Amino acid sequence: MKLTVIKCGGAVDPRPICADVARLGTPCVIVHGGAPQIARLAAEMGVAQRTLVSPAGVRSRYTDLAMLDVLTLAMTGRAKPVIVSALVASGVRAIGLTGLDAGLLRARRKGPRRTVVDGRTVIVRDDHSGRVVEVEDAVLRDLLEAGFTPVLSPPAAGEDGGPLNVDADRAAAAVAVALGADRLILLTAAPGVLSDASDDNSVLVRCELSREGPVPYAATGGMHRKLVAAREALLGGVTEVTIADGRTRRPLTELSGTPVEVVEVGP
Ligand code: ADP
Repeated sequence: MKLTVIKCGGAVDPRPICADVARLGTPCVIVHGGAPQIARLAAEMGVAQRTLVSPAGVRSRYTDLAMLDVLTLAMTGRAKPVIVSALVASGVRAIGLTGLDAGLLRARRKGPRRTVVDGRTVIVRDDHSGRVVEVEDAVLRDLLEAGFTPVLSPPAAGEDGGPLNVDADRAAAAVAVALGADRLILLTAAPGVLSDASDDNSVLVRCELSREGPVPYAATGGMHRKLVAAREALLGGVTEVTIADGRTRRPLTELSGTPVEVVEVGP
């Protein structure tokens, strides 16, 4: 039976998505983010949100220990319960997990690196973030087999077992590859991939990516990471990857957005 991995962005209302998961009626794994929930909790706890900018201009969250705490609390205490309870209310047997549970997502921590923080170039050593290098797919398969729908989010488990922040889009791609999923759907608060990020009417009917090198149409960090994740999933054998609008009435059964493809470019 078709297996779908769904990434649910933190900025979309998960309730219509959850109702639609029930309508799909096929096995799903849900991976979620939670940037707005993290931002709100950070403000409540008085923890500053900071951004790292790589030499190539790619922006990411600066996850020092205080932010790692906020992130874990926001994912497990605010973002995930809304999704799990909406799924259960729709009749889906959802189970909330993070990458720490059963070591589901194992990540390698990024080493100290030169980066721009708030406009100044510094070496950052206390960033607790990493890349997913392994997915404990047997546990996810067992849960699916038993009729459960895993609802998974960062943090992942670092090599020492401690929590690490990872990008949820790329984590979803890693999960889809590890499970041999047929489809990966990245639901976000945009109509799809836009050729002009400021024009909602410029949705691409398909988005072609080369096997390597920079990805196009990436005006800001979020969409850049989604395109990188989409490419990783396609190269890993996932048949269908769509960056889709998560704000519609039926975001899954009436999927609208941009299918992504990897194309060979000529010599
Ligand atoms: P999520 O929280 O769903 O993971 P992000 O906010 O990280 O999503 O990234 C999606 C956002 O990226 C969109 O809401 C949009 O504002 C922005 N964006 C930047 N460039 C583009 C583009 N070319 N096409 C569509 N959205 C874009």
